[in-house]
Amino acid sequence: MTAPALAPNALSSVPPGVFDCPDVELRRITKQFEGETVIRGVDLQVQPGEFFCILGPSGCGKTTLLRLMAGFETPSTGEVLIRGEVMNEIPPYRRPVNTVFQSYALFNHLTVAQNVAFGLQVKRLPKAEIGDRVAQALAGVKMETFASRYPRQLSGGQRQRVALARALINQPTVILLDEPLGALDLKLRKEMQVELARLHQEVGLTFVMVTHDQEEALSLSDRIAVVRAGQIEQIGSPQEIYDQPRTAFVADFIGDTNLFTGTVEGIAGDLVTILTPQGLSLIAQGRPGLTLGQTVTVCVRPEQIQLTAEPTTDRENCHRGQLSQVMYLGTHVQSVAALVETGDRLRILQPKPGTSFPLNSPLYLSWRATDTLALIN
Ligand code: ATP
Repeated sequence: MTAPALAPNALSSVPPGVFDCPDVELRRITKQFEGETVIRGVDLQVQPGEFFCILGPSGCGKTTLLRLMAGFETPSTGEVLIRGEVMNEIPPYRRPVNTVFQSYALFNHLTVAQNVAFGLQVKRLPKAEIGDRVAQALAGVKMETFASRYPRQLSGGQRQRVALARALINQPTVILLDEPLGALDLKLRKEMQVELARLHQEVGLTFVMVTHDQEEALSLSDRIAVVRAGQIEQIGSPQEIYDQPRTAFVADFIGDTNLFTGTVEGIAGDLVTILTPQGLSLIAQGRPGLTLGQTVTVCVRPEQIQLTAEPTTDRENCHRGQLSQVMYLGTHVQSVAALVETGDRLRILQPKPGTSFPLNSPLYLSWRATDTLALIN
């Protein structure tokens, strides 16, 4: 998987050196609610034109981070900067950001066009200009034929488009999106993801989006910040986060994975041997900081495991197993196999048509050391 390129117009429309600072920056932010610390020293930078996702489990502090950027919360310590300017004392309506909420927050007594026009009317722009910009914004989200409808006459996806148009019309520096697709069913959510990606490319603004959906974050973002209990666990491109998770938490949270806990028993050149309490010996790629006797979590992605009838010699890890489950998932086959030596159950994902084995057939599972990550707990 490759990260989508930065929206080209975002960077090319700005003369070099004009904004040589991040669009959004959080510096050593902490936030306490009623004495409880929910954000613990967060530093992050969002670059102009990026699609940046804040991803993490429920309650980890994602929405609080977004609200700090928007100005709906003030940090207990640290600084929020937008285009290099400290925003701590600036109220939400004076920040160059617009927020799109999961609940759309549309005015039910106003039509689609009136909802979108609202921000410009508050700014007292001339009527003709408002009309032109509303038409442009609605065309941008493909809602021009719905201008005179009321929100109650729209589907969830259409309401979300109106909410996006309303945010875009103010031409903010940054669009903040708080689980914008969270209320939609799966099919509509997928459609709107494509729309969001298109919109981001077209308008070239900086998008910061909160989501707990790892697939959504992987497919849309230029970079992702994975948050755990109020701290950033890792920031990187979707590919970095998926292929090189820095911690067991990230490996487990992003994508499907087989995890083992074990102790480092040997280090030889680039290779590390790890032994699990069940007696499974795993050969992993070495990484700085690993020492003998250390407890580590080993991560092997299901798609890296190969199934063969005979043992392989070109893969450092090869174990006898037995297939206990096979599921056809359209383009892929997902199976579960138990290792004969230890009883460990591993998930395997193979593209179709792969080598197919009947249930309970004895076989070999093999994978490379370079696809076996030893992560420090
Ligand atoms: P979710 O995915 O469930 O929306 P989240 O990652 O967005 O979760 P936050 O909404 O940022 O999490 O909340 C982080 C923590 O801060 C939670 O424990 C929450 O209960 C607490 N919290 C958030 N807002 C307040 C508030 N206004 N007063 C007290 N506690 C709060």
